[in-house]
Order: sequence, then C-alpha cells, then structure tokens
Amino acid sequence: MQDKLNELKKRLGEISDIQNAVSLLGWDQQTYMPPGGAGARAQQIATLSHLAHEKFIDDAMGRLLEELRVYASKLSYDSDDASLVRVAKRDYDKARRIPATLVFEIAHAGAQAFDAWRQARAASEFPQFAPFLQRNLDLKIQYAGCLGYTDRIYDPLLDEFEPDMKTAQIEAIFAEVKKEIVPLVHAIASRQDTVDNSFLCRPFDEQKQWDIGMEVAKHLGYDFNRGRQDRSPHPFTSSFSINDVRITTRFMADYFPAGFFATIHETGHALYDQGVSQSLERTLLAGGASLGIHESQSRMWENLVGRGLPFWKFFIPRARTLFPEQLKNVDAVKMYRAVNRVQPSLIRVEADEITYNLHIILRFELENMLLERRLDVKDLPEAWNAKMREYLGITPPDDAEGVLQDVHWSHGAFGYFPTYSLGNLFASQLFEQCKKEVPGLEASIEKGEFYPLLDWLRIRLHVHGRKFTLNELSNKITGKPLQTQPFITYLKNKYSEIYRL
Ligand code: ZN
Repeated sequence: MQDKLNELKKRLGEISDIQNAVSLLGWDQQTYMPPGGAGARAQQIATLSHLAHEKFIDDAMGRLLEELRVYASKLSYDSDDASLVRVAKRDYDKARRIPATLVFEIAHAGAQAFDAWRQARAASEFPQFAPFLQRNLDLKIQYAGCLGYTDRIYDPLLDEFEPDMKTAQIEAIFAEVKKEIVPLVHAIASRQDTVDNSFLCRPFDEQKQWDIGMEVAKHLGYDFNRGRQDRSPHPFTSSFSINDVRITTRFMADYFPAGFFATIHETGHALYDQGVSQSLERTLLAGGASLGIHESQSRMWENLVGRGLPFWKFFIPRARTLFPEQLKNVDAVKMYRAVNRVQPSLIRVEADEITYNLHIILRFELENMLLERRLDVKDLPEAWNAKMREYLGITPPDDAEGVLQDVHWSHGAFGYFPTYSLGNLFASQLFEQCKKEVPGLEASIEKGEFYPLLDWLRIRLHVHGRKFTLNELSNKITGKPLQTQPFITYLKNKYSEIYRL
C-alpha cells in the first residue's frame, strides 16, 4: 500500500507544481507584467490549468484514491496521510462530476459577462448586464445540479468555497447577526459626530506609508525570507510554496488607513500560509482550509489586533515619528477611535467591520432568491436597493454604486460572499479562545510582542493546512461549532464604548 501512497503523492506533487506555476504567472500578471503580455499570459494560464485538471481527473487517480480509501480509514483521522487521501478524494469526486463542456461554457460566459459588467458599470446601466447575469445564473444552476444537493441549490455552490458548510447553518447565523447588528448600526448612525478621523484624511507620503507597512508586517511575524511585498491595484496574497508566500498592497495618498490596514490584512493571510506544516509541502493540503478560515486570519490581524487599543498603545510613538505633522497631538486613544469610525456606506469594500456584514447578508439573501428563482434578474436592482434601505438606511443613487459594484457575479461566483462574514465570526471566536488560553495576551500586544498570538495560531490552526473544515476546526480548537456570540459581544462592547451608546 506504501507504493500506492507514494504514487499518489508523486502525482499530486506534479499537479501542485503546475498549479503553483499558474499562481506565479497570475501574481506576475497583477504586479509586473507589461500590458502587452496579457494575451499570451491568458493562454499560458489556460494551458497549464487545463493540464493540471486533466492530470487530476485521470481514471488512474480515481483508482488510486479508491484503493487507498480503505487503508486511509484505518489511520488516525488527523494524520497527514489520512487527510491527504480524504481531501484529495473529496476534490476528485467534485471535479469528476462536472462535464468539461460545462466548465468551458462557464469560463466563456464569465469572460463575456465580465466585459459586459465593466461597460454596464461605467454607464451605470444594469439592463446592459442583465442578460449576461441571467446566462451565468442558468449555467450555475446547471453546475449545482451536476454536483448534486439534497436540501438547497446554494449548498453545492457554497461548498466550493467553504467545504461542508450548509446554507441553513449560514441562514441561522446571519439571522442572529442581523437581529443584533441592524439596531447597532442605526444607533451609531445617529451619533456620527462622536468620532473624528479628519486627521487621517490628509496627505501621507507614499514612501513612508510603504515603510511603515513593511515595519508592521515584520513586527507581526511575517517572514520576509519566505515572502515579499509588492504593489498592485487590488491587494492580494499569493503562495507558490509554504516557503514563498507573497503579499501586495496599495496606498491612498490622502487616506492613511487604506494602505496601512490593507498591508496588515494581507499579512494575516500570509502568516497563515507560512505557518502550514512543512510536511504538507507540495501536496494539496498546503494552504488555507477554506476562504472563510483564511479570512478569519486576515481579519483577526487587521481588526482584532490592528484596530485594537493595545496595538496603538504600542505603535503610536512609531507612527508619530514617521508622520509628525499629520499625527501631532494624536495619542493612542484618539488613533484607536479614528480607525474605528463607523459610516454606513454604499460600497462593500469600503465598509467598516460592523456594516460590512450587512453588505454580505444582503448579497447572500439575493443570491439565494435568484438561484431558487424567487427573484427575476430584471427586478434585482430594486430588491438590492430595498435591502440597502432596510439594513443600512441608505439608498444607492444609481446601479454603479448599487447592484453593479462587485465583480463576483460577472464571473459567476455565487456562494463566495458569505465566507467574508464567516471569517469575521470565526476570528472573534478564535481570539476569545486564545485569550482564555494565553494569559496576558493583550498586555503582550501592548508591548509590541505578537508571538504569543502567532504561536498559538500556528499550533492550533495554521499547521493543519487544508486537513479540516471550518466546523471541524472550530470544534477542535474551541470545543464548539461556529458561534455568533463572540463576534456580537466584541462589536457591542467595542462600539458602545467608542460611540458612548
Ligand atoms: Zn482577505
């Protein structure tokens, strides 16, 4: 059986090499590639992706996995080998259920819809995009049918991004979040003057913004011997190995938090990928377990650490050295309050940590209505605006700032959005657990010592890579499945104090 396991590892290793090469081509595309390279690059990526897919869905791979399944079931569930066979089998079964023609049609329709979306957004005309969205939706309904489901059509689509998570579980979680958060947002909206962040909205030298970002990433524990930072229009993290995990960032010349927190956010993603056990290198277990768990790491460092008072007690003297003019008379408390200003806004990516979740809930609800054909595509803008009014108290002036703002649906990525909020929830649950197990956690952050938190995350979470699902990890680490209470308590305590509610 050892021979078969070695054969599996050899095959998966080669596929991982190809996929990592694809990621590297993608990283270059978004950082250094001259515009003229776009055509050739798209072809290279398509060829290599196709090659990796063909190798993965090979009949021989299916036979190997079937033969190893019984053997793996006798090993400890947590072991590297049992996990490798289990997760590879899960990925393989899914990949085999989708006909190649449908994969091609989805990619093709997505490319056309992306173009249509860009033009429709520029013109702020949803009807231009509607037929393309309808096509994406029809294809995804077909896709969900191929994967199969017993309860909700949303389940198999969600599963692509958050394995084993169910729509019903998210609905229950979101209902609780909504019940608590909507009144909180409305209460804060009536006290907008309580928090002043005007000193953050003035010119900040870009080189110094870069320097302070690099400095903070190092402080948090990002290993630059196994990583690097570059610039790109949209910040992202990309891994080609556990030992080569890169981040990108961007700056706004006259709004300090944009670049600073983008760097911390991506550093959080990178710390996770760098922390996966070396024994999982070059297997499909290297990397984060799901989008939601990945987002829990970026948001923990960005919000629970970087937007926390202990962090600013440590960091404000250094920030003031770099920006003496802008931060004159700004102490830790003033900075803490300013970086936590809440402002119900039209645009999801600009939202603060409270209202962000309402943007997600809105999208999740609309996606379900569309997929279950309870809502017609033509009526989508109206439904969008009605929910914006209900949850955030604001109405988009046009489609560009409303229903057309996100790229996801143009690619046919339905089921993706909830993972952002799952990340917020899980981050709070983990942080609460860490505080119980690591005494003096916040006192150490105040001293600029981040390793107690990082070490805890490494041992409890990062090291496992893709072995476990969100609910498995949650039970393993905190003794409970995903909870809403830690997140709601955190928000209520923090913002009642900041806004003196
Ligand atoms: Zn992220």
